[in-house]
Amino acid sequence: MDWRLSTLIMTKDLEPLLDSIAEQFKLDRRIVILTGAGMSEEGGIPTFRGKGGLWEKYDPEVVATAEAIISRPKQVWEMHDELRQIIAKCKPNPGHVALATLENVFKHVIIITQNVDNFHQDAGSINVLELHGNAWRVSCTQEHRSWEDRTVPITELPPICSCGSILRPDVVFFGEPLDEHVLSSAFTEASTANIMFVIGTSYVVYPAAYLPTLAKNNGALLIEINIEPTLFSEFADFSIMGKAGEVLPSLMKKIQTKFEK
Ligand code: NAD
Repeated sequence: MDWRLSTLIMTKDLEPLLDSIAEQFKLDRRIVILTGAGMSEEGGIPTFRGKGGLWEKYDPEVVATAEAIISRPKQVWEMHDELRQIIAKCKPNPGHVALATLENVFKHVIIITQNVDNFHQDAGSINVLELHGNAWRVSCTQEHRSWEDRTVPITELPPICSCGSILRPDVVFFGEPLDEHVLSSAFTEASTANIMFVIGTSYVVYPAAYLPTLAKNNGALLIEINIEPTLFSEFADFSIMGKAGEVLPSLMKKIQTKFEK
């Protein structure tokens, strides 16, 4: 069977599929991993759009825009503080840990994440590009400097900087541009990737959704892991329907075993 024929594989066929994927890895491959909210769902953080997600309770137009942090800072922080409280109660899942082990085997491994939960770093990954910022960082709306503050819950909302200005979460709100250095690095990594994973992302948030196209143009092998088909599935070389926290440990074990031989 030619596994490269954009195969949507159900869990029962997983073992031979994972063997076929592991066979494609060579030590000099440049590996780029794009992750979205589904990556952390098993750690206990619901995806925003999914059932029980924060967009059921909050309107992103009201609490997640640059305009909102100026006109409704308390509301913005109420939502963000709730997200921080959720993250604080959760931890990386075995999928995050499995991805971190790749850096021990391959020289070039980069994670490009849309998540703001810091779980890849908590699991041990070093090379992480955060497209949408980090929920644990705050940034001064006047001085434009940012720093980590893990206080949770935040006692007074909105928090105020020592300069007297309102602090904002150091995350990218709707309608805001992404950090240009992070974005430029992500484009470079995707354009030069030999293997790209696309894990737990609905493929509707741009510019992240554009990155697999750049990798494909470079001839990269594209591997999707998601619990359901997405717009990306037909485009991928391998599309595995399964949970990131279950599929990744099995796959990484096979890849590591291959190079231990
Ligand atoms: P999304 O909510 O649009 O899509 C999540 C995708 O993950 C879906 O396609 C879903 O089928 C899949 N999925 C759900 N559970 C999964 C699992 N266990 N294993 C594999 N796949 C699974 O998420 P998005 O495309 O990443 O965009 C939402 C934006 O919201 C992100 O850009 C991110 O900034 C933000 N967000 C971040 C977090 C976080 O930091 N953990 C959580 C929610 C949302």
